[in-house]
Amino acid sequence: MNGLFDERIDLFAIARHYLITYSTVTTYFRPTIDAMAGYVPGEQPKPNTTIIKLNTNENPYPPSPAAIAVLQQLQGEWLRRYPDPYANEFRQATSDVLGVPTDWIMVGNGSDDVLNVIIRACAEGGRKVVYPVPTYVLYRTLAAMQPADTIEIPYGADYRLPIDELVAANGAVTFIASPNSPSGHGVAINDLRQLAAKLSGVLVIDEAYVDFADETALPLVREFENVIITRTLSKGYSLAGLRLGFGIANPALLSGLFKVKDSYNIDAIATLVGAAAMRDQDYKNACAAKVKASRAKLAIDLKQLGFQLWDSQANFLLAQPPRNNAEPIYLALKERGILVRYFKQPGLDDKLRITVGTDEQNQLLVEALIHLV
Ligand SMILES: *Cc1c(COP(=O)(O)O)cnc(C)c1O
Repeated sequence: MNGLFDERIDLFAIARHYLITYSTVTTYFRPTIDAMAGYVPGEQPKPNTTIIKLNTNENPYPPSPAAIAVLQQLQGEWLRRYPDPYANEFRQATSDVLGVPTDWIMVGNGSDDVLNVIIRACAEGGRKVVYPVPTYVLYRTLAAMQPADTIEIPYGADYRLPIDELVAANGAVTFIASPNSPSGHGVAINDLRQLAAKLSGVLVIDEAYVDFADETALPLVREFENVIITRTLSKGYSLAGLRLGFGIANPALLSGLFKVKDSYNIDAIATLVGAAAMRDQDYKNACAAKVKASRAKLAIDLKQLGFQLWDSQANFLLAQPPRNNAEPIYLALKERGILVRYFKQPGLDDKLRITVGTDEQNQLLVEALIHLV
């Protein structure tokens, strides 16, 4: 009998299985993917556990009530059809709030999606990806996937932008997170302006934490066609679970990016809920003000415990314990139900990145730390 259950087909399947399992040559993946390390996100405990979560820089306050009201009124009909590929409801809200034209805005499934689109559109092989380190680890992951050559330029101890080295590296894409993670420092707009003027490739200014900062580099998108600013609703707007971010740039730069992005990368719910959150600037600013006040308070408490701190323009603090025992402290806090971020890598493995929580959460953290430093 021939057909689907033919013995020969089974033999092929078995042979293939052994080839893939035991051969060092055959795998399912491109060599690049086999060689790379995947991005390791911060731990995400189940909602409503009593964990105090200060490890992935979420906002401790709930999303805007106006955004929640929109979510609760959504009709099933909105979900039956494909969403608007350009998320125009959200683009209009963002345009009104920031004073940039709608066609200067590209919306993404989180700003990570926008970063991914930029790399896919602009970088490969010798078209290099350049960024100062330490910074957001995802830049490395995205470049490794493409793949594109990566040049990492160390920040000095003072976190001044290494402009000459960045220019010399001549990236097709240069990433600057400002405020930066995990250091929290903001990069001066004049340094970014100098860099933009000297680069021929794309300069991405990642403003994921701008809502907690004193300064924005937004004016640079009008001065330089090669500058794109990326932002997110995950941090300032308390909507990390919604997955909504955006890039702002000259339409000439966005035109190539639009070719690369998934047609329906922003779902119908995110567009409408995000638009309501964007229009509620008063609420967002009030939450950010509370976070900034708590940041100052937490910094004082940590300094009193002997921690060394870096000035932060973001909703977290990079903190070095007096005895440099960051890993044991991280583990002991975790034991007590308090999660902070520990990066096991040179230059960071003696420090903790601590998200600013509510004053109550920060107080519990400080009380736990008294016994650990
Ligand atoms: C959190 C973060 C992002 C990603 O934000 P999403 O919009 O949630 O994808 C981007 N850049 C930096 C530096 C971040 O810390």
